[in-house]
Amino acid sequence: MEIYLDANATTPVLPQAREAALAAMAEDFGNPSSIHSTGLKARALMDGVRARARRVLGAGSGKLLFLSGATEGIQTAVLSALSALRERPQRPELLLYGATEHKAVPEAMRHWNALLGLNLQVQAIPVGRDGRHDLAWLREQAPRAGLVCTMAANNETGVISDLDGIAAALAGSPALWMVDGVQALGKLPLRLAERRIDYAPFSGHKLYAPKGIGLLYVREGAPFTPLLAGGGQEGALRSGTENMSGIAALGAVLAALEEGRAFRDHATLAGYRERLAAALQQAFPSLVFNAPPELCLPTTLNFAVPGVSSKLLLDLFDAAEMRVSGGSACSASKAQPSYVLEAMGLPAWQTASAVRLSFGPVADAAFIDEACARIRVCGESLRESCLDPNAPGHALPADGLTRFVVDGACCYLLADAASRRAVVIDPLPELTERLAQWLRCQGYALAAVLDTHSHGDHASSAPELLAAAQTPRGDVDGLGWPRGADAIELGALRLARLHIPGHTQDSTAYLLRDTLGLRLAFVGDTVMPGALGRSDFEQSAPQDYGSSLRRLEQVVGPHTLLLPGHDYDDRFASTLAVECAAQPLLADVLGGRLDDAGFAAAKAQREQSLALTEYQTIACGARVDDGCPLASSELCLAALSQLTREHPGLVLVDVREPYEQRLGQAPELEAEVCREAVALSGLPNALARWLALPAETPVVFFCRSGNRSSQAAQALRRLGHAQAWSLGGGLALWPRITTAADAAFAI
Ligand code: PLP
Repeated sequence: MEIYLDANATTPVLPQAREAALAAMAEDFGNPSSIHSTGLKARALMDGVRARARRVLGAGSGKLLFLSGATEGIQTAVLSALSALRERPQRPELLLYGATEHKAVPEAMRHWNALLGLNLQVQAIPVGRDGRHDLAWLREQAPRAGLVCTMAANNETGVISDLDGIAAALAGSPALWMVDGVQALGKLPLRLAERRIDYAPFSGHKLYAPKGIGLLYVREGAPFTPLLAGGGQEGALRSGTENMSGIAALGAVLAALEEGRAFRDHATLAGYRERLAAALQQAFPSLVFNAPPELCLPTTLNFAVPGVSSKLLLDLFDAAEMRVSGGSACSASKAQPSYVLEAMGLPAWQTASAVRLSFGPVADAAFIDEACARIRVCGESLRESCLDPNAPGHALPADGLTRFVVDGACCYLLADAASRRAVVIDPLPELTERLAQWLRCQGYALAAVLDTHSHGDHASSAPELLAAAQTPRGDVDGLGWPRGADAIELGALRLARLHIPGHTQDSTAYLLRDTLGLRLAFVGDTVMPGALGRSDFEQSAPQDYGSSLRRLEQVVGPHTLLLPGHDYDDRFASTLAVECAAQPLLADVLGGRLDDAGFAAAKAQREQSLALTEYQTIACGARVDDGCPLASSELCLAALSQLTREHPGLVLVDVREPYEQRLGQAPELEAEVCREAVALSGLPNALARWLALPAETPVVFFCRSGNRSSQAAQALRRLGHAQAWSLGGGLALWPRITTAADAAFAI
């Protein structure tokens, strides 16, 4: 069952609100502007909800408008205020908003400021380390301000603003004041009319009503300009036929709030939060909270774990069927730090790895119990994977190859559980701490740290890694190879080297053999998926490149997997046969149609105008294709079911990381299939095996969202297995017995 802990993003709809919405659609469906009985019934319903909202919000004689949500409420308030400022004989200078405000606020200010031609200065009110507004700063600026916007409680951290302090700082200021009440609704008594607040927007979907319904409070006498003109609904303040099912549902929520039975009081909610916080601290002992709990909504926790990214924690929680959110918005390639935490002056690691956990005020003790139990299981799983740097635990011995990628640069960790030895190939400075702590946690000896060449875009971090892993460097050459050794042994695995100058004079391939023979080769930048390494560096050997490629071919043949030093398009591995098909230049030099000098000249021509990569790093080779994905490899669930019936040998691969796989239940399918668990970071371990399957055997990858599985399917297709598929939408779209909404109210 799903544990939904992302209530600050949105909430499920309360059962009684659903019923009320349905009734408003099916029975009381009238238009409140109609004067016949059906219309009058609808109007009575709407008036009743407005009256209830007035009581709940302490709105006094102010106006309360129904509209689509808080974003519309914010626009309306800002438009109203700025239209009034335009008419003032003495124009103010500033429009002020809290630095941690929802983006809708500064964006609306800039938008209407420009559109109305006011051109006032839009400025953020700084916040302190505790997330609260700098009141001294505000007091100083307030006399020059025309509009001040300060949220009642922050959506990322839950920090509650000092509204009385703000009111005092605004004393004597001509500024209008908007308070975004979205996150406060149902959690804090707002008593709007008792304060000088001019505007306060609210959103139904943050408190168990559906999306598309919101409220705007406007103080009696505050300036108002309609955003929507038309049929004159809402006293001509907001035209458009009212969203009656939304209003009915919001009414049911407000009724539950007034009755108080479904909603827990502040002390109970604070107790729940304490229990969640304790479970988090037990699961991740080094965790830090990003805001002082005593200043926050009792329903929000924002934290970070040193050395553990928010993406990792999100995946981990999701695998345990717990929905939380990154304190920051994560894009596919790079996590964006949270501007809220940045404004609070938190260090970069905290702003980039924040996680938010939020629940709604109808949560009950059983829900919190279950959430705490799952949090503890998540911590255990992380420790078993040696991924919590500060909580070395009972690690399960790792075996095989793990690939890490930083801005397209690849680093490989080769581990052997039997001998408890590991080798790192092409270490990256960003990974030093993580690798060292992993080695410590696993108790593995670091047999060698090897570079495939002297890198053009970064210095080798081998010395730092060896130092961090407290391993003496020993008598090794410039690339980390033990002098005089023919091979490095890791149990039954054996690494040998092959000198292949070209990209650089010292370019070297490392050949990995096991008891069955050559398994794969680490070839650095000599052959990358869709590119050959550039050979125009000072340390390059362009005239040797062609013969190095031929030597490589003699040793590895056309089909051995080659693992590159850079992989900008998530192709993971290649072979000489695949690259010959993609790169005619390579085919020509290996096919004897081009001699070494001709090859060097043709390559030099291509390298004349090499631009920086998308990561603003030096391109290590001239790309020969644009990296466009192959034909879509996405399957829907129905297509997967059909494939399983047609192909009893179908291989279904979970590409989530081990810490997720340990938590997630295997999804059910009608037909028997061959199931495997191969994490995306360990994909090269299994590629050769899948390539050896009969051509018609489907290999279907799945993950949480369909992103990682799509990378795996595309990589396997490019290597030649056309029947490689990804489950579109991932486990998120796999049918569940219980829906999120049911789960939230069922326990
Ligand atoms: N203000 C705050 C504090 C919010 O958290 C949100 C929603 O995330 C909004 C405004 C926007 O609300 P709506 O989704 O109703 O437009």
